[in-house]
Amino acid sequence: MPQHLRVLLSPFFILLLFVIGSVYVSTLPEIWLAVLPWAPYFLSITALFMAWHFNKGRVFVAVLIVMAALWVPSYLKQDHNLPLVPTVLALTWLSLMRERGCLNRFTFNRIFLFAVLFAWWGALQTGWVKLPTTVPLMGGEALDGRTEFIESVLSLGLIGLSITLLLALWWRRVDHFSACILGTVVGIILINVLPITRLHETILFSALLFLWVWQLLLESRHMAYRDELTGLPSRRALNDAMAALPSNYAIAMVDVDHFKQFNDTYGHDMGDVVLQMVAKTLERYRGPAQAFRYGGEEFTLVFRGKHVEGAPDQLNWVREEIEEVPIDVTTARGQEKVINVTVSIGWAVPEAGDDPSQVIKRADEALYKAKKKGRNCVVGRA
Ligand code: GH3
Ligand code: MG
Ligand code: MG
Repeated sequence: MPQHLRVLLSPFFILLLFVIGSVYVSTLPEIWLAVLPWAPYFLSITALFMAWHFNKGRVFVAVLIVMAALWVPSYLKQDHNLPLVPTVLALTWLSLMRERGCLNRFTFNRIFLFAVLFAWWGALQTGWVKLPTTVPLMGGEALDGRTEFIESVLSLGLIGLSITLLLALWWRRVDHFSACILGTVVGIILINVLPITRLHETILFSALLFLWVWQLLLESRHMAYRDELTGLPSRRALNDAMAALPSNYAIAMVDVDHFKQFNDTYGHDMGDVVLQMVAKTLERYRGPAQAFRYGGEEFTLVFRGKHVEGAPDQLNWVREEIEEVPIDVTTARGQEKVINVTVSIGWAVPEAGDDPSQVIKRADEALYKAKKKGRNCVVGRA
């Protein structure tokens, strides 16, 4: 499944689950119905605590925005689209901002900014503040109908613009945060547009808050198991994978040649670009082999089951493919040129009684031999 759809899967699945659940809510036992109104409070406190714990300021503010929409008094909600527009605007605005950690001046500034936005929209909707069209122009009378028309066009326009922007951000970033913001905006629109009871509203708000708890769980898993620079699964993920290997597998160690020299000549940042390129090439072989960043400029490929047989060919293709990628660099003298990097690969399969760590050790020995042989080659024994 394309990554774009994959990130949308969990927010919209959660939303759908709660929407379906809300249809059958009246069949719940009395005691559950008594507890249900507390669910959004419990979930918002959980989400806020987790956002603070993981230092995710944007999630912290997103949860506060959803809470603000929940807490708008119902007498204000009845005649106005009060929670809808400022909530959608604030969530869109938030997704344009960078993650800058939690409970610092950035978080407080953002909370203040969105509080002003809610207050201004509230004042406009309840008539405390009027749009310029309601001010008599050149001595004439303002037309109330016209004001309402302008206000609804303004609301629709702002919501349409926000959704377009959010879709563009999700398409470009393909991350869980953008997907959750989209899910939350769709949820808020459903809550405001559907003719639902207070109980259904509580359930849908619980869905939105649960969505953020889920996003934080995904994020924490991502932090633990993904390498930040390359996006590949990390050493920790490799350790987990090694604990659940089938009997037939092969492990390959991939090491960039003369990488220290590359870093010294072209700079550490260019070195990072090379690591990202190598990771991307390895990822392309995801079908037959799972790639991990082992550490530094070393990567691991794990072949399972029927893919073991083709491992030598695959490894040679990987090596050739990496060698063919042109890399634009600037020399210390400011000269621009195109170069190529190479990798050496050592691989091994288990022998009787081997555990995966021993196979890695033998793959490492094979890698050492590949380096000795002159680099840019594959060494291994089936
Ligand atoms: P060989 O061909 O024998 O493998 O030589 P090498 O220079 O590649 O090996 P060595 O182990 O001496 O150097 C590895 C270098 O990798 C040293 C370190 O600065 C660099 N390195 C490790 N991690 C990173 C990283 O995340 N980014 C960058 N840019 N460099 C890294
Ligand atoms: Mg090395
Ligand atoms: Mg190296």
